[in-house]
Amino acid sequence: SKRGRIDTFVAKRLQIPKKMVRNLIASKQLFIDGHQVLTADTQIDEFSLVECQGNVLQQRQRAYWMLNKPKGVVSATVDEQHVTALDLLKGIDHDLLHIAGRLDLNSTGLLLITNDAKWSQRLMAPESKVIKRYLVTLANPIDDTYIAAFEQGMWFEYEGITTQPAKLTVLSTHQALVELKEGKYHQIKRMFGRFQNPVIALHRESVGAICLDDDLDQGKFRALSISEINSIY
Ligand code: URA
Repeated sequence: SKRGRIDTFVAKRLQIPKKMVRNLIASKQLFIDGHQVLTADTQIDEFSLVECQGNVLQQRQRAYWMLNKPKGVVSATVDEQHVTALDLLKGIDHDLLHIAGRLDLNSTGLLLITNDAKWSQRLMAPESKVIKRYLVTLANPIDDTYIAAFEQGMWFEYEGITTQPAKLTVLSTHQALVELKEGKYHQIKRMFGRFQNPVIALHRESVGAICLDDDLDQGKFRALSISEINSIY
């Protein structure tokens, strides 16, 4: 995220020398989030409200959305060929929005979209161990022998890594829940690929404590609640 000194920000924003910014501070004209600025090295970020002599110099609301991604929608902000996840956020200011954890083109379900880069970094960092849960439908029957293989981890030649322990819960002959703490490229498809068992549908149900609403239709979105936002840390 864009952290920096208040004097640097104001000098650039108002096209004035830093010396003049110090004068504004000394004459008690500069405020951050409603508090008077006392020193020129005070830190701000892109969400700090900055006011000078009653004028707003910066104001940006944090934005956090859940989208029920349909098949065929690409997890990107812009794309030549496909409808993008951001295209579906109708009537929303797209400024600086990005996708926190992509889904493949044909995957469906919970997609998180935000303008808070720190938040999405925390969400995706393998160290933060946020569990992503997927409902997976397979072409061929599955059995309990898969469970240990998912738990043990699989060697991914291309990345040169072994996957973190993943939890597989068999629901029926052709359906399972998979819980991952990471998100390597096509990870779930590749893991079932070891059993020559193609994934025919992949639906993300939850990311940590954030669960896709049952009544949120495909292609629809809503704002996250404060507790959902704060559940990622
Ligand atoms: N694993 C996949 O293979 N695809 C996804 O979209 C998510 C996880």
